[in-house]
Amino acid sequence: MSAQPTSDSSAAWQVKVAAADVVLKVDDLSVRFPSDEGPVNAVQNLSYEARLGRTLAIVGESGSGKSVSSMTLLGLHNPKRSMITGSIVLDGTQIVGATEETMRGLRSSTVAMVFQDPQSSLHPFFRVGKQIAEAYRAHHDVSRAIADKRAVEMLERVGIPNPDRRARQYPHEFSGGMRQRAMIALGLVNDPKLLVADEPTTALDVTVQAQILDLINDLQKEFGSAVILITHDLAVVAEVADDILVMYAGRAVERGLAKDVLSQPNHPYTMGLLLSIPSASDEVDELRAIRGTPPSLVHLPSGCSFHPRCDFRDQVPGDLCVSTLPELRTLSNGRQLRCHLPDPEQTMIEEISS
Ligand code: SF4
Repeated sequence: MSAQPTSDSSAAWQVKVAAADVVLKVDDLSVRFPSDEGPVNAVQNLSYEARLGRTLAIVGESGSGKSVSSMTLLGLHNPKRSMITGSIVLDGTQIVGATEETMRGLRSSTVAMVFQDPQSSLHPFFRVGKQIAEAYRAHHDVSRAIADKRAVEMLERVGIPNPDRRARQYPHEFSGGMRQRAMIALGLVNDPKLLVADEPTTALDVTVQAQILDLINDLQKEFGSAVILITHDLAVVAEVADDILVMYAGRAVERGLAKDVLSQPNHPYTMGLLLSIPSASDEVDELRAIRGTPPSLVHLPSGCSFHPRCDFRDQVPGDLCVSTLPELRTLSNGRQLRCHLPDPEQTMIEEISS
């Protein structure tokens, strides 16, 4: 298969949806923090879109930049402590450089976030229903009674039994799964166009995880919003995502339709993530974890950041992997890929069948 190199900012991969459905457009985003060891390059030259009615999964190990990029969408970084360049247009508003007042207006009315730990969003001293009602009143000129009714409706919609009674309770009276549902209700009460869910199921047991993923999926279809799901878990991606962006060391390394990427990865790192998922038939010693650890974002390796951990380097002529950063190119199958392998699709097919 031949590969056609294009620039990093290319948005040419082939999702057949109208441009009007794009609610978020991230272009050439870089995020840098100071540290005692030197600047931390948390995100570099990242470009992607989120579209109404679709779920985009952003995947990678910790330190890949996936959570930093989502925090940037909500303007949650202290501008004095971070350097952000590039462009993030959310529902027509440029976020990079926006004032706190602009961001406050966008948060929850246009974009909402569900975190791994619901405690970080739900205030422990206020009743759950009140918190949802107040979030509603912040964007709607309605009476307390109407907002309270809306809060109960939202709790019911996210599958909380006895929503009337539950609305009067405090977060500590909810189980972990119920708190997560309540946070989703809080996130969706103003019909945001974009919901960002950052590892929303990591702290939950497997059964509750599946219920929360189903809930996000159902609500996404019902509300027609765009969802960005930040996760390290490819099993979660397979469950709910339409599109996938795989990040490594702050950069996008593979991007495409989730079902295609998961069934036929083209990047050695994506392949490594897939091979390290346990399945029911695996013996423990048959799992092939990616060797080594992710690099420091202060001292990134030369060339391809993945080269110290990559088993495919010897299939690339010369020392290109060590000397030169691969560009994000668009392959003839519509996939975006950052790798020097001359025929990545065939190489990965051979790896899977070996
Ligand atoms: Fe591996 Fe080289 Fe591709 Fe990087 S560019 S993923 S080191 S083959």
